[in-house]
Amino acid sequence: MGKKIIVAGAGHSGLTTAGQLAKAGFDVTVYERHSKEDLGYDWYDAVNPNVFQVVGCPHPQEVGIPWKWRQDITYFGPNTADEHKVVQKFRKPEDIEIIMERKDIYRLLIGFAEGNGVKMEYGVTIRGPILAGDRVVGISTDKGDVYADLVIDAAGMNSVVRTKLPDCLHIQKDVLKNERIFTYRAFYDLPVKREDVTDRYKVMFRPDPCEDFSLSWITTQDTYTDLLIGHMEPPSDEEIDDIAAWYRKTNPQLGPHRLRGGQTVPIPFRRPLSILVADGYAAIGDSAFMTMPLNCSGISTSIEVSKILADAIIADKTETFSAETLWPYQYNFYRKIGNSLAPISLVKDLIISIDHQQTDYAFDTGIITWRELSITADQHSIWKFLHFDPRLPKRGLTLAKDRDMLMKAVGTVADTAAFLAWTRTMPKTYSRAAVQRWAKGYDKIFTHRLRKMFPTYSFDQPENATKEERTVTL
Ligand SMILES: Cc1cc2nc3c(=O)[nH]c(=O)nc-3n(C[C@H](O)[C@H](O)[C@H](O)COP(=O)(O)OP(=O)(O)OC[C@H]3O[C@@H](n4cnc5c(N)ncnc54)[C@H](O)[C@@H]3O)c2cc1C
Repeated sequence: MGKKIIVAGAGHSGLTTAGQLAKAGFDVTVYERHSKEDLGYDWYDAVNPNVFQVVGCPHPQEVGIPWKWRQDITYFGPNTADEHKVVQKFRKPEDIEIIMERKDIYRLLIGFAEGNGVKMEYGVTIRGPILAGDRVVGISTDKGDVYADLVIDAAGMNSVVRTKLPDCLHIQKDVLKNERIFTYRAFYDLPVKREDVTDRYKVMFRPDPCEDFSLSWITTQDTYTDLLIGHMEPPSDEEIDDIAAWYRKTNPQLGPHRLRGGQTVPIPFRRPLSILVADGYAAIGDSAFMTMPLNCSGISTSIEVSKILADAIIADKTETFSAETLWPYQYNFYRKIGNSLAPISLVKDLIISIDHQQTDYAFDTGIITWRELSITADQHSIWKFLHFDPRLPKRGLTLAKDRDMLMKAVGTVADTAAFLAWTRTMPKTYSRAAVQRWAKGYDKIFTHRLRKMFPTYSFDQPENATKEERTVTL
């Protein structure tokens, strides 16, 4: 023990992994570009309250950090008239999330990390990995180079550690257009009485007039209204103002004065990375695209996954932290979470590839029901979709009346079946050739229909890191 570990990024995944490893006796330092005060965003998040105990972190209640239960969600397609809504129902109390201010989640997780001996280095911008051959041996930062026995990449979707890894590792760098969503979020004044608002947590698919897929929510809290607008391309300030004004016509709870927030942030909207480890390197959280590909929540999953990663590192008695000895992390992640999380991305592609009319049709005719939508309560299992329903034949016949949607749905079912079969072939032990072969097959299942499903998208250009950024010599 005592080996040196660098954690790149003080997000939820980085802090929880760091805390567990420091507790186990490793010398762990977290490097973060922001100051402690500027970490995170000025809004609240929904989290599964059970994940804290998984990693040994106290529940917020135990340390006097505020939290409250999340309210139920009402879902709408593009037609947001009252009779078109689908109301979420929870069957089990453990399906209900809590909401916490993001700054408070950080307070909790930093307390956990520091309490276990993690060293925090704020205000350090990481420029990329330092490599010895194709082993990651450290990070290059604006404050100088730092070396370690292992680098944990928890630096978010556009992590410069991941995007600057050598190509021979076959760890995917770029995300395609259908694989991320840009979300604007802000709190506005609440000009009406909260009690007069019927649906206080409205989630809407394709609600605004833009042709491409969009996702929004309007949530009424005690003293303000929370607006989220998700688009496939970053919306401009003018577009945001226009869309908010447009919502105001039918949502009097959304006042004109912005009180908090106002950032637009990209979130992974896709399957997890097909290869999570290399010699001296492991990716976690948004850097490994571990968000739930329908509602883009990633906090609870990244905390849960941090336990799987920490366990694998602690179990590596060779302390070489090679791809081979870190492989149990990937294997166990997919076995416990990834195998049921990843295929939700196929469903997401189906949803974003159908148009406004088709989305309304699916809502109005019962093709989509509250059971499927309950997956957005931070669940990460495809099995929420694949449940027995006596009305399935009727729903199938209704679907068959729209040939385009039927063909897309058939493709989704076929790809899900192919995924479930392929994932069973994941190598149990690491060999670079076998792992890269498996990863190629995995990625192909998610990408082979894209040109047909999204004829107007360009899939030839990488979408995030610029070429200039990636060709920096380290
Ligand atoms: C509008 C919005 C609402 C959301 N709501 C929810 C929700 O309600 N529930 C939920 O579960 N999830 C939600 N999410 C998703 C959630 O925020 C992420 O999945 C989660 O934060 C991922 O944690 P992470 O630790 O992997 O990455 P991050 O939280 O992104 O942390 C990465 C860290 O790395 C740092 N970093 C990046 N690059 C560098 C660099 N070069 N040098 C130094 N530091 C660097 C960043 O500053 C950051 O602190 C939401 C996301 C958005 C955008």
